Amino acid sequence: MAKGLKVLYDCNACPAYCCSYPRIIVTDKDLKRLAKYFGISKRQARKKFTKKGEEPGERVLRHKKDETYGTACRFLDRETRQCSVYTGRPTICRDYPGLRRCGYWEFLKFERNLQEDDEFIPTAYNP
Ligand code: SF4
Ligand code: SF4
Repeated sequence: MAKGLKVLYDCNACPAYCCSYPRIIVTDKDLKRLAKYFGISKRQARKKFTKKGEEPGERVLRHKKDETYGTACRFLDRETRQCSVYTGRPTICRDYPGLRRCGYWEFLKFERNLQEDDEFIPTAYNP
């Protein structure tokens, strides 16, 4: 995204839908960063935090149960809905959504306006 442009979504007011995506790819560089963050080896980080992805050799973040979306990234703080490893998070989490707008945020805002409830969380979203 072009530098200096203000983003049109507010992650602090969102229950972190993007952290519920099943395919959050973890690269080798991401593993090194996570390992450093936790003070463990890359191999340990790979085993503990990731699992096989769709493509050969691909690793994705492990999930755990989530009351809002069924499952979500194991690092999502269930109380605050914030990332618990913010400085150690993978590149894909740093880059997403990569645009000024976030599709889920647009949907969330629309539904909250409709319900006249700033904290409403719709149960289904099919982009
Ligand atoms: S779904 Fe969009 S608004 Fe919500 S946390 Fe992710 S990027 Fe932010
Ligand atoms: S590492 Fe953090 S930002 Fe990335 S999916 Fe997990 S909780 Fe979300």
